[in-house]
Amino acid sequence: MKIIFLGTGSGKTSRERFHTSLYFETPGFNLLIDAGDGAAKALMNSSLDFNSINGILFTHYHADHFTGIGALITQMKISGRKSELTLFTHKNLVEPLINLLYYVYMFPETLGFNLKIIGYRLAEKVNVADDFSFVARQNSHIYPKGDIEFYPESMFVSSSVLITVADQSIVYTSDVGGSDDLYLFDNIKPDIFITEAAHIEPGDLYRAFKDIKPGKMFVTHIEDEKLGELIEWYESLDESIREKIIICRDGLTENLG
Ligand SMILES: [Zn+2]
Ligand SMILES: [Zn+2]
Repeated sequence: MKIIFLGTGSGKTSRERFHTSLYFETPGFNLLIDAGDGAAKALMNSSLDFNSINGILFTHYHADHFTGIGALITQMKISGRKSELTLFTHKNLVEPLINLLYYVYMFPETLGFNLKIIGYRLAEKVNVADDFSFVARQNSHIYPKGDIEFYPESMFVSSSVLITVADQSIVYTSDVGGSDDLYLFDNIKPDIFITEAAHIEPGDLYRAFKDIKPGKMFVTHIEDEKLGELIEWYESLDESIREKIIICRDGLTENLG
């Protein structure tokens, strides 16, 4: 299997990086995780066909993880896609997803392919395909801030995920609220730990690496303004640690055999 980091930017739009999306290429099923604004173009930049995607999993609905979906599904329709597409989102967010697709005129009846939407529950194992599953846990990234108590609490959901493909385990923190969120799956030692870098400090990344002991750690969701500090931190690490920590850039591909 392969992981391709299509978009490694943060919530701030950058000339250098696309907003978040990750592509998991596996023998039976290709899963896109998050479809940030510009995801369709990020796929093109990595020479990937829109229709190679079998499913899309959303961790939360900030624009840099979600709003690329309208344009991406439009491209699938325009290109005459026939194969089914499965969207995985938290069960509370199924309706907003359907609404977004309605309001960009992507009606299920006229797409030309079957659109399946699966609303996942937290802490429940969801089978994506044979030997390919994920479990989502709530992190503290999204919560009601300020004078907005009239919005339903149920919409404030953001997930970190543990993905299992055959015998490989991958933790993707997605966006977190603080360093505690890096430990939501601390009962396992993943082969790959993918963490964001916009809401935590390099020191927190280092502690998480030491505590969790992943095979490799990938740092993504990088703000242009923080890249210098991140590289300085990386260069200060021992060579044995540097071999296992990768500061991502768009298009980076990791082959997991
Ligand atoms: Zn983000
Ligand atoms: Zn976010």
